[in-house]
Amino acid sequence: FSPDRIRNFSIIAHIDHGKSTLADRLLEYTGTISRSADNKQVLDKLQVERERGITVKAQTASLIYQYQDTTYLLNLIDTPGHVDFSYEVSRSLSACQGVVLLVDANQGVQAQTVANFYLAFERDLVIIPVLNKIDLKGARPDEVCQQMESLFDIGKSDILQISAKLGTGIDLVLKAIIERLPCPQADRNAPLKALIFDSWYDKWRGAISSIALIDGTIKKGTKIKSNYTGKVYEVQETGIMYPNEQETNTLYAGQVGYLICGMKMTKEAQIGDTIYQDMVPVKSLPGFKPAKPMVFAGIYPVDQSEYSALRSAIEKLLLNDSSVSVNIDSSAALGQGWRLGFLGLLHMDVFSQRLEQEYDASVIITSPNVPYKVKIIGAKNIKQYKGEEITILNPSHFPDPSIISECSEPVVLSTIITPDSYMGSVTSLFLSRRGQLKDQLYIDNKRIMFKVVFPLNEIIVDFFDELKSITSGYASFDYEDYGYESANLVKVDFALNGLIVDELAMICHSSKVLENSKRVVAKLKEAIPRQLFEIAIQAKLSSKILVRDTIKAYRKDVLAKCYGGDITRKMKLLRQQAEGKKKMKRYGNVDVPKDAFISVLKK
Ligand code: GDP
Ligand code: MG
Repeated sequence: FSPDRIRNFSIIAHIDHGKSTLADRLLEYTGTISRSADNKQVLDKLQVERERGITVKAQTASLIYQYQDTTYLLNLIDTPGHVDFSYEVSRSLSACQGVVLLVDANQGVQAQTVANFYLAFERDLVIIPVLNKIDLKGARPDEVCQQMESLFDIGKSDILQISAKLGTGIDLVLKAIIERLPCPQADRNAPLKALIFDSWYDKWRGAISSIALIDGTIKKGTKIKSNYTGKVYEVQETGIMYPNEQETNTLYAGQVGYLICGMKMTKEAQIGDTIYQDMVPVKSLPGFKPAKPMVFAGIYPVDQSEYSALRSAIEKLLLNDSSVSVNIDSSAALGQGWRLGFLGLLHMDVFSQRLEQEYDASVIITSPNVPYKVKIIGAKNIKQYKGEEITILNPSHFPDPSIISECSEPVVLSTIITPDSYMGSVTSLFLSRRGQLKDQLYIDNKRIMFKVVFPLNEIIVDFFDELKSITSGYASFDYEDYGYESANLVKVDFALNGLIVDELAMICHSSKVLENSKRVVAKLKEAIPRQLFEIAIQAKLSSKILVRDTIKAYRKDVLAKCYGGDITRKMKLLRQQAEGKKKMKRYGNVDVPKDAFISVLKK
């Protein structure tokens, strides 16, 4: 296939708008897969993806299609369908010349449609707008066309109308891909230059990379060099995804395919890296900013004896997901574990679900937090602080307020689209989460789009669920990184009978101190069993006590009342209690069961 007969494209869409279904139809229509019931969502390969119906990892497939006497090679590069993975969306797009922008004809333009549109638009990609699900009774093609016109300046005559489910209009999509998209700018005779835009790990063959061949050719035996590591490899196998790895002799400029070259780890197959022929260096491609973990949580085995099994399970998952950051962590209450950094909350959920499903690991995941930045007064003179500004991942490392000159927290710019009848409740929700309204506009006569800046910390826990519930599921939400903003942050400590329990320390905004402290104190009160003596629970801001409560003494009275006469029953009960105590952690004279920590720390 010469470059003029190649088209590289992605389908981008808000979740559930039918991307996987359309991908399946395109594969069937071009004969890449046979039409049968069990190949639903061929590209969604992970179990979590099938279960949750979202794409986590981008997948590529090549299609061969005969159009007006010419045979074309169409490379479909799948993109993940969730805000946490927008980083993967953007790198998939770098291997394309155009996108199919798919919009549900009933739901209309949603928050991720807007985000995805701009990802493609900023890259100067050709956009083919497509309304899907026109078979639905509630389809509102005219309104949705109006939304696309007012938001994206797309004319109605350019919009295709299809039903991916029924297979209506699939030929129109293929025609538009061939006619509207440019072919890749590629030169077969120039020196080899290829972009690694994805990689995954195969138990037997090591790292497999998806590559887009910009120039030249690559085949088995070619000696290649990675621009990033400087290492030289010999190509062991190369080919196209049709829809699974199918070896071909050679890949040519303009093609997209896979590459196996003896890289042991996905770390070597750095996404964004440029590959060239050894001894024939080329100017490297721009590469990608590495994904930045923004949500951190502790992961611990439920039972410490499972520590090493859990470690190897985590290591295996990391082979396929280089965006997770890992640090060893330990907690007096939960034992040895790790502090992992994720791109977002769904990313974290998907990771822990895969740990449980694929490796049968039971884990405790602590409530997530975000990286705060703190400027230290006179840091030069304090040995433990290397620089003036430090990043705090663990609340117990928060410095004493007397040496802090400024704190800041990560913020995101979000897009919320909702029917205007929910405008009031959506507004009070975002105000309660410290959101600042930047912009609002009607996208048709009933729907409104808000642009709101949120502290990331305010939306990582249950914001999305709450937004969905107050709008009966109609609102959609997406966000992008928006840097750091200065904030009035404080550390709250929790003490049991006067003794501070480090691992319960919490960083929060000054306006949320009371609300959060009360919640934790109430949880502690519920989770710590009564003991021989009264236990005071306190939430403290420096030396000031914000909230206090007590757990009343217990054992004496009960024993006196119920078991007063019977010494053997009394002894049995005390023995049982002693057994139970082994599972507890002692703070001063207070015994705290592991479950109490879990109930406070867990998300
Ligand atoms: P994705 O999240 O964008 O990959 O969306 P899916 O392809 O998983 O589709 C989401 C849901 O919409 C599934 O239940 C599909 O069966 C359904 N769906 C997809 N396309 C159509 C369509 O053209 N018409 C109707 N009625 N349903 C569709
Ligand atoms: Mg999907």
